[in-house]
Amino acid sequence: MQVSGRVLVCDSIDQAGIDSMKRAGLVVDYRPDIKANELVAAAKDYDVLVVRSRTKVTKEVIDSSNAKIIARVGVGLDNVDVKAAEARKIRVINAPEAASVAVAELTIGLMISLARSIPRADSESKKGNWIKKELMGTQLSGKYLGIVGVGNIGRHIGRLAKALHMNLIGYDPFPINKEFISETGMIVTDLNTLVESADFITCHVPSTPETKHMFNADRFAKMKPSAYIINTSRGEVIDENSLYEALKAGKIAGAALDVFEVEPPTNKHLVGLSNVICTPHIGAQTKEAQELASTVIAEKIIQILRGVI
Ligand code: NAD
Repeated sequence: MQVSGRVLVCDSIDQAGIDSMKRAGLVVDYRPDIKANELVAAAKDYDVLVVRSRTKVTKEVIDSSNAKIIARVGVGLDNVDVKAAEARKIRVINAPEAASVAVAELTIGLMISLARSIPRADSESKKGNWIKKELMGTQLSGKYLGIVGVGNIGRHIGRLAKALHMNLIGYDPFPINKEFISETGMIVTDLNTLVESADFITCHVPSTPETKHMFNADRFAKMKPSAYIINTSRGEVIDENSLYEALKAGKIAGAALDVFEVEPPTNKHLVGLSNVICTPHIGAQTKEAQELASTVIAEKIIQILRGVI
């Protein structure tokens, strides 16, 4: 069944979803560089607004629009004023599971990079420096991985880490999937016990008032001096100034960050530390994850406009 409607795609998304929407009969305008003021002026002409993370769907955009659907090709809805959309009875949709594999694989990559100083080994080797003696690493096998937020991504990482013979500790204020616990042998505990016991801590929580700065000076003080922290969730989860102090003082061994309190990061002293590895929010940046997110969103839009869901 064909559907009618106009879709404005405001950020660059994989072509697969655009093609499916067009095949279903939708008119799709692709404007991945649209500016904030242009969006406010254009929004009234569309039934659907599609964004990734660049475009902010503010109250001003929402109030000037005639949209029935706001679609985020990704997980977090931090860039959409969901309350303003709900007040106008606009459906807000996302693709929560599309990036799980990509983020989990990046997290494992960052953990191994921290344990073996791969970025430093690479850059020094390229400069002609043979620093083998300085690069005594640590093995993952037998170590305790603390997973904070045991949702889609946290569970996927848990399974990959088990294959590396790591032991799992998990904290989540909501019940954790029982099959996952029995499959992996995860020890479920409170946050402070996890922080005190883990050799590696990885964060996979949403950005909420409760998770803002959940890793602060107190928590870093509880970590083992040999422990590492990885954040591929949201920048606000870590208090970057406290992280910097903890790393400088040797209270923890290192950190890997894919997300920052401000992006791109302005906290140059933190980013510049030799025991910090940074990536520019590339968790979901794989061909497969982007294609899946784009097609999942396109399918949801088509089904909503058909009145199926
Ligand atoms: P999810 O909803 O499946 O899992 C989140 C988990 O966090 C849930 O189990 C929830 O119960 C738990 N949680 C909520 N509040 C908590 C708290 N106060 N303390 C501990 N746990 C808490 O989400 P997901 O798909 O696994 O995504 C996790 C995070 O990864 C999100 O912040 C998401 O935005 C982020 N993410 C980042 C990238 C990237 O590019 N780096 C890509 C995709 C997702």
